[in-house]
Amino acid sequence: MNKEAIIAKCKELDVRFIRLQFTDILGVVKNVAIPISQLEKALNNQIMFDGSSIEGFTRVEESDMILQPDLNSFAIFPWRPREGSVARFICDIYTPENKPFEGDPRYVLQKVIREAADLGFTVNVGPECEFFLFKSNEDGTPSTVTHDKGGYFDLSPVDLGENARREIILTLEEMGFEIEASHHEVSPGQHEIDFRYSDPLSAADRVTTLKFVTRIIAQLHNLHATFMPKPLFGVNGSGMHIHLSLFKDGKNAFYDSQAKNQLSPAALYFIGGILKHIKAITAVTNPLVNSYKRLIPGYEAPVFQSWSASNRSALIRVPAARQSDTRIEIRNPDPCCNPYLAFSLLIKAGLDGIANKISPSEPIQKNVYLMTPAERALENISSLPSSLFEALEEMEKDPLCLATLGEHIMNRYVEAKMIEWEVYRSQIHQWEIDQYLGVF
Ligand code: GLN
Ligand code: MG
Ligand code: MG
Ligand code: MG
Repeated sequence: MNKEAIIAKCKELDVRFIRLQFTDILGVVKNVAIPISQLEKALNNQIMFDGSSIEGFTRVEESDMILQPDLNSFAIFPWRPREGSVARFICDIYTPENKPFEGDPRYVLQKVIREAADLGFTVNVGPECEFFLFKSNEDGTPSTVTHDKGGYFDLSPVDLGENARREIILTLEEMGFEIEASHHEVSPGQHEIDFRYSDPLSAADRVTTLKFVTRIIAQLHNLHATFMPKPLFGVNGSGMHIHLSLFKDGKNAFYDSQAKNQLSPAALYFIGGILKHIKAITAVTNPLVNSYKRLIPGYEAPVFQSWSASNRSALIRVPAARQSDTRIEIRNPDPCCNPYLAFSLLIKAGLDGIANKISPSEPIQKNVYLMTPAERALENISSLPSSLFEALEEMEKDPLCLATLGEHIMNRYVEAKMIEWEVYRSQIHQWEIDQYLGVF
């Protein structure tokens, strides 16, 4: 839609408010609401905001930023009243000098997409978002009590969250999503929604949209939706598997009918690049202290740095589909990551693999969890970072992160996350009290 079409659409739908959305470096959606009278000004990129108190943005002296609405992201909030409705745009952030702002995660991803395009590649991304629906307490605060006893792919009436999930999906569809699948996940109260793959920028916009829409619709059902990676001890956590493929000249660049496993050299190098950089990238794909409580054996989340043409215990799996559907699935990310930064780093690592012909080790068909440490060492399979701290150390060591994110985001990200780690580390947790207080 162009400007005129959007103005006409807003008239037709009686839009009264516009939300101008963007995400901070930690992936949290922010927005500025403007009344419809300011729409033309917004479409002329004349809306400024004060970025100084947004996480990872700017210092006070350079705080004025311009919001440039991406016209493709126009959507109505279907849960708001139809008379006097609310619409949104996702925005790019520009400096007062009209330059893209280095601290805008969307800008980072746009640069990576352009780099891929310069090499002749278009990238497709398909994320699978998992989340829990918990009961809300009387006072509206979230609990960790699940409302159902359903399991993987279970059907109603066991799945009481189904109504909420159904409405989440209908809402997302009204906002332009093409939902491919949704189902109950393994844990009680756990769900998954998969939308159709697309270019990386649209996919990242959709992940951020899916997360806030899911929370809002759940709340309308007196449920709390959480994308926290591991909210419950002893059951599966929530991941966000990311499917990636490359196309060149309209053809899937990962597919080679003649090659072993029908995977092209580009596919293997792309995997090699991701495996090389994954420890560092994990600081972004798994951004919370809590993320590392999901990455443990026994809960379908990866722990080791391996890839496989079939086995689901691997960090990178190649789904069985071939020809134009040939793709890889990266299984460590969780839905709390900033999708713009996570996609940027994964794509950049894969492209580094192609540029430098980084061959991955042989695919592992065995269950890596059943191998002994010695067997794993023999096959060159090391572990993912076991804590946010370890991951941040890896991130600081790997020049690819700085090259992808730029100094502004890299420095602020590491700083904010190191503080998060230190705050966590100095807390006394219930487990320690239970374990030590009586005995020592
Ligand atoms: N929930 C699992 C995880 O943490 C994934 C389960 C699945 O989709 N097979 O990654
Ligand atoms: Mg799935
Ligand atoms: Mg799943
Ligand atoms: Mg999957």
